[in-house]
Amino acid sequence: MFTCTGYAAEAADQELAPFTFQRRDPGPKDVVIEILYCGVCHSDLHTVRNEWQNTLFPSLPGHEIVGRVQAVGTDVTRFKAGDIAAVGCMVDSCRTCPSCREGLEQYCEPGFTGTYNSPDKVLGGPTFGGYSSHIVVDDAFVLKVPANLDLAAAAPLLCAGITTYSPLRHWKAGPGKKVGIVGLGGLGHMGVKLAHAMGAEVVLFTTSASKVDDGLRLGADAVVLSTDPAAMAAHAESFDLIVDAVAAPHDINAYLALIKRDGTLVQVGAPDKPLPVSVFSVIWRRRNFAGSLIGGIAETQEMLDFCGEHGITADIEMISMDKIEDAYARMLKSDVKYRFVIDMATLPKAA
Ligand code: NAP
Ligand code: ZN
Ligand code: ZN
Repeated sequence: MFTCTGYAAEAADQELAPFTFQRRDPGPKDVVIEILYCGVCHSDLHTVRNEWQNTLFPSLPGHEIVGRVQAVGTDVTRFKAGDIAAVGCMVDSCRTCPSCREGLEQYCEPGFTGTYNSPDKVLGGPTFGGYSSHIVVDDAFVLKVPANLDLAAAAPLLCAGITTYSPLRHWKAGPGKKVGIVGLGGLGHMGVKLAHAMGAEVVLFTTSASKVDDGLRLGADAVVLSTDPAAMAAHAESFDLIVDAVAAPHDINAYLALIKRDGTLVQVGAPDKPLPVSVFSVIWRRRNFAGSLIGGIAETQEMLDFCGEHGITADIEMISMDKIEDAYARMLKSDVKYRFVIDMATLPKAA
């Protein structure tokens, strides 16, 4: 084992603070990564505050990781010391169940190992994520970042990017399709960029009047203030697909009413409270209400390569590690433009 530093919370009512812990020594298939940048996902905040009531403490979040390879195990051929490498939301899965065999590790039947907040199969205790100096990950779960992308701005692709890319692909966003994105946060702004690059007609729904111009700049063909009933009604029964990336309780029946016959509203945002659905919202026009969880490893690499080809990264605001609680406070006010990324060079060397 070797000693790492990071920022972790000891309990749901405590702030993140410097934390020292151990990572495993690399096995034959492991890649040791010195973390350069880590994006800040709203799931990090839900987790450290135990909003989903499943948090293992101490909780050390972060699953939008870009770094430099420091060492590799003897069986690793895809990476060598000095290479750039990325890690997203998963670090392992069973690899044998039907979902894993189809490349859908996020739906692994016994359960994938999350980059943070999963039982650590090697060391015991919880897995610790990317708000840290290093991470040790099996080569099969390490991604490559296209060389033309800015490394800090590419970090959010590892969760916000794949979580929107996967449902857009699954429900076939593209030319001739009208696609809505709800909420211009980390996920939503990637959804707008990706759906636009796929060739769909894109409509952004936001509660923030201050984000209208940004929505258009990021690639939306139209932006609707969801607080304006007339503007909402103008889009009634017209969408093939809406991807809802809102982190808080809100009325999804208002969005189901905008879906045309056989279209789909897919929920990727994960508020801690149930979202009531009127049966008439789905009976009428035979609508589908679905969910989607991140994306598989092969699809994550496909998304990164797509972003490389189209020059897509996140719009980021870089922060130092000690400003994480301020970033969370702004996230709760929907004041993020549009992803915080932690510069890991600011991590204290020893806690
Ligand atoms: P974020 O950056 O905080 O963005 C959320 C956005 O939702 C806000 O910017 C805001 O956009 C909108 N919003 C917030 N409160 C609202 C309210 N009360 N009513 C209506 N709209 C509201 O969060 P994120 O990192 O993108 O994550 C979004 C959600 O997705 C979180 O719940 C997260 O846990 C979840 N998530 C799910 C997956 C998955 O695999 N399914 C993966 C990653 C994250 P406007 O200002 O434009 O209204
Ligand atoms: Zn995430
Ligand atoms: Zn599996």
